[in-house]
Amino acid sequence: MDFSLTPEERQIRDTVRSFIEKEVMPLEPEVLRNEREGRPGLAPDVLQELRTKARKSGFWGINTPEEYGGAALGPIMSAIIAMEIGRTFVPFSFGGSADNILYAGTEEQKQRYLIPTIEGERRSCFAITEPGAGSDARNIRTRATRDGNEWIINGEKTFITGGNEADFVMVFALAEEHGVTCFLVDRDMGWKSEPIPTMGQWGPASLVFQDVRVPEENILGELGKGFELAMQWIGQGRYMIPARAIGSAERMLQMAIDYAKIRKSMGQTISEYQAIQWMIADSQVEIEAAKWLTLYAAWRVGQGMDARHASSIAKLNGAVMANQVVDRVLQIHGGMGYTKELPIERWYRELRLLRIFEGTDEIQRRTIARNLIKGHARLGLIGE
Ligand SMILES: Cc1cc2nc3c(=O)[nH]c(=O)nc-3n(C[C@H](O)[C@H](O)[C@H](O)COP(=O)(O)OP(=O)(O)OC[C@H]3O[C@@H](n4cnc5c(N)ncnc54)[C@H](O)[C@@H]3O)c2cc1C
Repeated sequence: MDFSLTPEERQIRDTVRSFIEKEVMPLEPEVLRNEREGRPGLAPDVLQELRTKARKSGFWGINTPEEYGGAALGPIMSAIIAMEIGRTFVPFSFGGSADNILYAGTEEQKQRYLIPTIEGERRSCFAITEPGAGSDARNIRTRATRDGNEWIINGEKTFITGGNEADFVMVFALAEEHGVTCFLVDRDMGWKSEPIPTMGQWGPASLVFQDVRVPEENILGELGKGFELAMQWIGQGRYMIPARAIGSAERMLQMAIDYAKIRKSMGQTISEYQAIQWMIADSQVEIEAAKWLTLYAAWRVGQGMDARHASSIAKLNGAVMANQVVDRVLQIHGGMGYTKELPIERWYRELRLLRIFEGTDEIQRRTIARNLIKGHARLGLIGE
């Protein structure tokens, strides 16, 4: 069993790390200032400039196939790069990628939706959740009714990431007797969005579809096969959620260690106290566990193996780990941790989301337990 990276992989990791340290982390004070004044952390032109700079160093389309101009670095490197990006709370990601299910489109759909999304000219959002259907995604009520060569969509979606900014949506609706179907719907076809304020910096939206007419050729994939596409969208990148959180947890743990070494209480630095040492030790143990579970899930994806069980384990563990670590880091900083002078409280609010979206903790546990009970996954296997 070889846990090492190749020299080329190590070089990629180090280059990303230095890009994040030199180009992205210096923006942190500006991001905090902007967000506290109610603006987006990074202005769109600043993000674009960063992405262009990254592209010049070869970081663009990390997981995008080469035929679309991407680097196609694969799941393990994508996870490692996400860990590096997670070291900063600046809302940055490399450009050049698009939702995996857009590759299921027709040639014409690829030209209109996939390629412009990869190029950063168009922005997508993914809409399955509804006010009455979150974890119970099969229970969606948004309807699509056929009228000649068009479908008329009616319904409401909620908590849609990027829904305020997107210019098209991959929306899931019940298409008469065919069942759940995915439609590509441009904003100018008539859907409306409304921001939903949250405790984090994520600004999801509710989307309203009132008699929105969509041409037949805008069905993504097959009529009635939308649920499979939705699960493919959610499933493919599930290991990326804990990956980013691992970077954040490591950065914060380092902050806590540095602070513990200088903060004095009762005549000694707090790093001398076992209570503090145990919080540091437990955090590293949990981060390391999360790291290897995440890389294992990514490895399975890369091998073309069924990664659903491993991804649920990695997502559940990583989300819980990140919330425990940020809580301990805040505790080690005492009152300072609770202030807005440090970014810990921001991370605390942001990381809370990880236990909710793309399958709550409870839904991951349900999946893991059901897989074991039904025999879809077995205990005691290594390397299979
Ligand atoms: C910031 C943010 C961004 C999001 N982005 C998107 C997006 O881009 N696109 C999109 O479609 N959705 C998005 N979502 C929606 C997200 O996926 C749902 O919120 C999530 O799946 C939970 O659904 P719910 O909120 O309806 O909670 P519910 O499903 O109502 O769950 C409420 C509670 O009951 C528990 N529960 C539910 N069913 C069971 C069960 N069978 N067994 C045990 N416990 C159960 C849950 O775990 C939870 O604790 C986003 C949500 C947020 C907050």
